[in-house]
Amino acid sequence: MPKVKGLKCRECHRAYPAKPLHVCEFCFGPLEVDYDYAALRQVATRRAIEAGPPSIWRYRALLPVDGEAAVGHACGMTPLVRAKNLGAALGVQECYLKNDAVCHPTLSFKDRVVAVAVTRALEFGFSVVACASTGNLANSVAAHAAEASLKSVIFVPADLEQTKIVGTQIYRPTLVAVDGNYDEVNRLCSEVADKYGWAFVNINIRPYYAEGSKTFGFEIAEQLGWRAPRHIVVPAAGGSLVTKIWKGLKELHALDLIPEVRTRMYVAQAAGCGPIVTAIKADSETIRPVKPRTIAKSLAIGNPADGYYAVKAVKESGGSGEHATDEEILDAIQLLAATEGIFTETAGGVTVAAARTLIARGVIPRDESLVISITGNGLKTQEALAGRLPAGLTIKPTLKAFDEALAAHEAATGGA
Ligand SMILES: *Cc1c(COP(=O)(O)O)cnc(C)c1O
Ligand SMILES: [Zn+2]
Repeated sequence: MPKVKGLKCRECHRAYPAKPLHVCEFCFGPLEVDYDYAALRQVATRRAIEAGPPSIWRYRALLPVDGEAAVGHACGMTPLVRAKNLGAALGVQECYLKNDAVCHPTLSFKDRVVAVAVTRALEFGFSVVACASTGNLANSVAAHAAEASLKSVIFVPADLEQTKIVGTQIYRPTLVAVDGNYDEVNRLCSEVADKYGWAFVNINIRPYYAEGSKTFGFEIAEQLGWRAPRHIVVPAAGGSLVTKIWKGLKELHALDLIPEVRTRMYVAQAAGCGPIVTAIKADSETIRPVKPRTIAKSLAIGNPADGYYAVKAVKESGGSGEHATDEEILDAIQLLAATEGIFTETAGGVTVAAARTLIARGVIPRDESLVISITGNGLKTQEALAGRLPAGLTIKPTLKAFDEALAAHEAATGGA
């Protein structure tokens, strides 16, 4: 009996075979992978997982692939950092950072979903992988396609950060810059997927792709000594990551790998593109699409595919959500760097800023364990910090020049 029973409609629960399908033919609901949990109990034990490789593939039993990992053998198992300095700055006692700014190979959490999607695409026999991306997905699909010797076609909004363009082009995909926002890119890609029969990781093989996000939650629980934290703040674009961390924690409990899950999930979004958080704050399950206007481009999805399920996960967990303005995002990026020596991209700024507000408002208590999700690397969004960092000292190569420059600098900055 295989561990994956097939796909199942999240709305009407109709069953489908484990094929490259993503929408229910009857109700147009999204499909999700359906596992045989009784079979999983035999293989997914703490001991088996701990004996596995130091990557997402230690959880292979809980991922929708039939065979061995084809790509991303070093993906995941990123540090869970005990953030004492940031915790003190935010006023919480037990603060951790799950740091996917250093996820292998393209420095964002998207490597998790892509490693799973590309492995599955190979099992399906696809020869071209593709995606609609806000940046990090583009980097990751292009890199993993190179590793798998597959062709890749990457669609991005034309106004993407230059670093994310270079970080995609280096792998020689076919890169298509679309004169439009992400939601327009995504709509185009649905038509391309139908016509060309390519494996669009976040469209026609989305059910498999999305499961990769569970590993972010699995690792947090394992790294805490097989327990779930009380609070997790997660940035949302399409809303898949937060939904799947929640699903992953519940799976661990269902398999008796962790005690009862009392975790509250919090969604972090930019004020200029925060439709999921807006719905949470209004206590509504209806997502009203918005036109994105924010420096957090990796989260700039105005019509989030999993928005409704993200709201449901937050509600079910007893959590909440918070917006961050562009100014708060930049302050938070600098706070994280100054306190923990970690440089995150704008999405991480959104998460830290939202956590800060939730703590200040008393929504997240100061004496319970908190994990803040850092999902991307600051070197990719350097433009956002333009004009905010001081210039260094520039001198002639003499000790006298250094003495003078240092004295002038100390006088100007009060000896710092
Ligand atoms: C894509 C992305 C997210 C959010 O992912 P969703 O699953 O679409 O909500 C968070 N952080 C970063 C850096 C991303 O690139
Ligand atoms: Zn259905």
